Amino acid sequence: MENQSTGQGMFTWDGESWLSDPEDAFGFRASWKVKKVLYRELSSFQEVSVVETVGFGRALVLDGIVQTTEKDAFIYNEMITHVPLAVHPEPERVCIIGGGDCGAAREAVKYPTVQSVDMVEIDPKVVEASLQYLPEIAGHGEPDSRIRFHYEDGTAFIRNRQGTDDVIVVDSSDPVGPAAALFEKPFYQDVYRALASDGIMVCQSESPVFHPHVLKRVHRTLKELFPVVRTYLAAIPTYPGGVWSFTLASKTYDPLEQGPERLQAGANRYIDRDVYQGCFRLPVYVKELFTDR
Ligand code: SAM
Repeated sequence: MENQSTGQGMFTWDGESWLSDPEDAFGFRASWKVKKVLYRELSSFQEVSVVETVGFGRALVLDGIVQTTEKDAFIYNEMITHVPLAVHPEPERVCIIGGGDCGAAREAVKYPTVQSVDMVEIDPKVVEASLQYLPEIAGHGEPDSRIRFHYEDGTAFIRNRQGTDDVIVVDSSDPVGPAAALFEKPFYQDVYRALASDGIMVCQSESPVFHPHVLKRVHRTLKELFPVVRTYLAAIPTYPGGVWSFTLASKTYDPLEQGPERLQAGANRYIDRDVYQGCFRLPVYVKELFTDR
């Protein structure tokens, strides 16, 4: 396969201690004190690394950007997975686009009604590295037998499905490279078609502080397709600004009406009924993104 990685995002590591995310448009960059680089390979799509940080445990780094850390991956994975799975009364077929760290898949199989989880990750090396070096996130031992791995572009995978999935989770990286198409209307139209008549999708919709234009566009585009669209937030220290957004789009069920009683909350570390109810209450600067002005 053609190598699509530009290598431009490769992380700067001074060989002793500090790894720096690439500087963004705000002149803001995070730096991580690193003890050790455990894995570092150039795949067909990106540079894939796992590092041992001083304070956040092990971290998955793609093209120089820290994607997830052992310290707070549970927050992201519980929020992107449990909300749609609790809103749907009987989720059986789940599809995850991206999500190569396997954390979302691991949460999805906590729901006893779930019969299959199709995990569609473009880069097998991310899954390989996560299963080997990030067991705290990906899980210890063999993945649950309900999880089926597909190594292909999520846009192509979803294009060939119709009315199949109860829940589609778009656990993508930032909207650059192969992930850019996962934030565009043609993909969302295909997701709509792939969902069952009462299906639900959720995507990570970036930081309302650093990427409000992305969140605004995702929300507006989904509104053109789905009758119910709800954005919710979580505090995730690893991501720039700490506040992260998710946007849920549903053909039938409204998370504000269904209530959180189906949440499989026993083994969770972040989401419970209180968090579920609170996460849809948005600050004014976020609500303003969704008003027509
Ligand atoms: N939870 C973390 C976050 O939001 O930063 C990690 C997300 S997960 C690592 C994102 C995954 O999406 C990556 O492994 C990347 O390879 C995959 N990905 C990017 N574009 C894709 C595409 N078009 N189809 C399938 N997977 C894709």
